[in-house]
Amino acid sequence: MLRFCLLGSGSAGNALLVGSPDGSILIDNGLSFRQLQRRAATVGENIEDLRAVFITHEHGDHVNGAGILARKCGLPVYMTAGTRARLPRVVGALPRVVEFEAGDTLRVDGFRVDSFSVTHDAADPVSYTVDWGGARLGLAADLGHASNVVRAKLRGAQALVLESNYCPEMLHRSSYPPAIQQRIRGRHGHLSNPDACSLLASLVHEALRYVVLIHISEENNTPELASHMARHAIRGAQAEVHIARQNGPTPVFNLAPVPA
Ligand SMILES: [Zn+2]
Ligand SMILES: [Zn+2]
Repeated sequence: MLRFCLLGSGSAGNALLVGSPDGSILIDNGLSFRQLQRRAATVGENIEDLRAVFITHEHGDHVNGAGILARKCGLPVYMTAGTRARLPRVVGALPRVVEFEAGDTLRVDGFRVDSFSVTHDAADPVSYTVDWGGARLGLAADLGHASNVVRAKLRGAQALVLESNYCPEMLHRSSYPPAIQQRIRGRHGHLSNPDACSLLASLVHEALRYVVLIHISEENNTPELASHMARHAIRGAQAEVHIARQNGPTPVFNLAPVPA
């Protein structure tokens, strides 16, 4: 069975673990090695089962812990050439890098990982879907706008891990300077609660089991507001809505294959 867990999510560090009975992969690591190890252990995961790290983009909250993890566990790191060229210095030397182009399909230990471009203020940002044993997880993290490509890629996934970064009214009233507000709101910024809801509403289907909202702003959003809106957007559907938090892991979610 495919399983997944957000070990942390937010502007201070993101990490998504996706596991199968044969091993696991990590998408992004903005957590320290100790935090990653501790949080994985809390939910019954072992980082020694990791086979590879996939990076979405070079912002510190997604890569700051990737280098130390790759070195300690001898893991290959998958990323676009644009992301590699802009990695922050703190990442350090990597034992093995696998470069790919947005749109490529990557295969690691029975996982099929499909990459696709997203709009965000980074060099060459991507997001991913992960397939294993007939189950699919779709991730949409750090994107300013849900393009048709994003919608097409996420369609049919039984689990959706979606950014629901800010409430537009709270951002407007916040202490953030206008230029920063504009950056967050822009097509290369982050998805708002209403953006996430309209994406979600267009993706609801019978086999959708889990929606996990990620990258919730601590200043310009609340978990309660984001989850309330998402539940409303998928009303009538069977799916559970969960929130990923900055300071601890979500439960581990299991995805049974969809009967053909
Ligand atoms: Zn981020
Ligand atoms: Zn980012």
